[in-house]
Amino acid sequence: MVSRLLSGRGIWIALLLAAAAVVIGASVHRIATRAALDEAASRGQTTLRLAVAALSGQMRRYEPLPRLIADQELIRALLAYPDDLALRAEANAYLKEINTLLDSSDVYIMKTDGDTIAASNHDSEISFVGENFTYRPYFQDAMAGKLGRFFALGTTSLKRGYYFSAPVMVENAVRGVVVFKVDIDAVEASWRGGNNEIIVTDPEGIIFMSGRADWLYAGLKSLTEDRLARTAESRRYANAVLRELPVSRGKPEAGHFFLTIAGDRGSREFLELSEDMPDAGWTVSVLTDTASARAQALTNTIAALLLFGLAALLGAIVLQRRSRLAERMEMQRSARTELERRVEERTADLEAVNTQLELEIAERRTTEQRLRQTQADLVQAGKLAALGQMSAALSHELNQPLAAVKNYADNAAVLLDRGRAAEAGDNISRISSLADRMATISRHLRNFARKPNQKLGPVPLVEAVGDTLEIVGSRLKSAGATLSIDLGSDPPIVIAGAVRLQQVLVNVISNAADAVEGRENRTIVLSAYRDGGKVSVTVRDPGPGVPPAILDRIFDPFFSTKGFGNGLGLGLSISYNIIKDFGGSLSAANHPDGGAVFTIVLDAADRSIAEAAE
Ligand code: ADP
Repeated sequence: MVSRLLSGRGIWIALLLAAAAVVIGASVHRIATRAALDEAASRGQTTLRLAVAALSGQMRRYEPLPRLIADQELIRALLAYPDDLALRAEANAYLKEINTLLDSSDVYIMKTDGDTIAASNHDSEISFVGENFTYRPYFQDAMAGKLGRFFALGTTSLKRGYYFSAPVMVENAVRGVVVFKVDIDAVEASWRGGNNEIIVTDPEGIIFMSGRADWLYAGLKSLTEDRLARTAESRRYANAVLRELPVSRGKPEAGHFFLTIAGDRGSREFLELSEDMPDAGWTVSVLTDTASARAQALTNTIAALLLFGLAALLGAIVLQRRSRLAERMEMQRSARTELERRVEERTADLEAVNTQLELEIAERRTTEQRLRQTQADLVQAGKLAALGQMSAALSHELNQPLAAVKNYADNAAVLLDRGRAAEAGDNISRISSLADRMATISRHLRNFARKPNQKLGPVPLVEAVGDTLEIVGSRLKSAGATLSIDLGSDPPIVIAGAVRLQQVLVNVISNAADAVEGRENRTIVLSAYRDGGKVSVTVRDPGPGVPPAILDRIFDPFFSTKGFGNGLGLGLSISYNIIKDFGGSLSAANHPDGGAVFTIVLDAADRSIAEAAE
């Protein structure tokens, strides 16, 4: 679509340019032609001015001479006595001398009847003496008492010349005529070879002088009968054959006149400039060939058209560049818009994702809060359950001895009343031992209550296990379980906190008791051995073992399979962290023969240090 539009526009531009080229070409050609013709005309005008000046100079030189000669006594005497041979001879010699002196063509004297009686060329072959020139206008003018002027081809000499004549007056009467003929060949010779053709035409339009010999005696105007008759009357051209030049006049252009002359080598167009010389009776014309002016105009036109073409080409290049630039900018703009659109899209997507994330985060936070709340609730519930358990255990542990103490005390009172002091003493010592037992329980309770972050130190396993048994004894008993203890011949001493280690052992053994409760084999084995710098304590029970699926999770806080009220799921988690605090490890596994094995690994303490610590 775009390219079709472009090509359509291109055709229009091409047509416009072509039209502009035609208009410019025509205008430039007109202006250039006019300028070239003006220049040619101005050169022709100069040539014309020079030619006219040369001719009139020549005329002026000779014009007064016939009168001077006519005033000569000798000439007057001759015309008074025309037949006087001595006078004739003297006049002939005089005329010849003057002719030579003035560098003229011929000088001669005519009587009133037109007969020539003396001439400068009296002694040459073509002597004028005896000739009669009454038909010449210069004779007629002089006879009328005027100065005569005429140009013509000599009928006797057959040489062209300009004739000046003057009457010879004696006592106010014309007695004869003096004629002075001037050669014009020298002037004409200077016209040959120039760029312009200079011609002199008579009033009938016949060429009398010309740089080109072939144009002589040819008419620029048609040779009508009138013209031929007038020419024949004065015998201006003697017997020369007159003809018409094949001339056609063109339309005047900007004040210039044109004529075209057909020749052997085709027609030539000339610019014609003319000036009349009324005194001389002729018209001087300069014909300038227009070929070079027209060629120059054509060259200038072609140059202008080439310039125009070049300018158009440059314009086209500039336009093309600009359109390409605009196209590129448009492409960049659309690319930018596309980019911006994409960025906006992405931003919107991101914002949506962000909002979604924020929502999810808020949801997570709420869930987390709910979880925390649940955990807190659970802890609270656990605490209450533990408190309940502990209260139950405590009341059980304390009520029994208290009941026994009451019985023994009552019995002792009865026995004392009966005077059986020895038996009463026995009862009192039993009361004392029961009080000891209750004190022990209380001590353990106190141990529990102690802050856990006690300093670590060497703890003999024998003591730790013994204290533990004090606490878990009743639980073992209630579960019907027995604890087999094997600490080796040299019971190890570990680096730990005594109370917390005991807490761990209580927890692990309690779990073992839970596991074996109600089972056939209820013997729990606690063994310990030293391996280099480490001491391993294992508690193995013949219970159902830990299902592999939950083996990884039993150390998680609140993980319990014992149901609400029975297990908090905190025991192993706390134990794990306590052992970690000691720099040791607590792990669980199932024994190949069945049942669970819990292993505590701790750093071993040197006996000497342990003893020193004690
Ligand atoms: P609780 O004893 O309150 O459930 P614990 O953290 O002590 O919490 O124990 C977590 C869980 O580990 C128990 O609920 C039980 O499933 C499992 N477990 C612990 N000791 C043993 C054992 N000796 N044999 C089998 N399972 C055990």
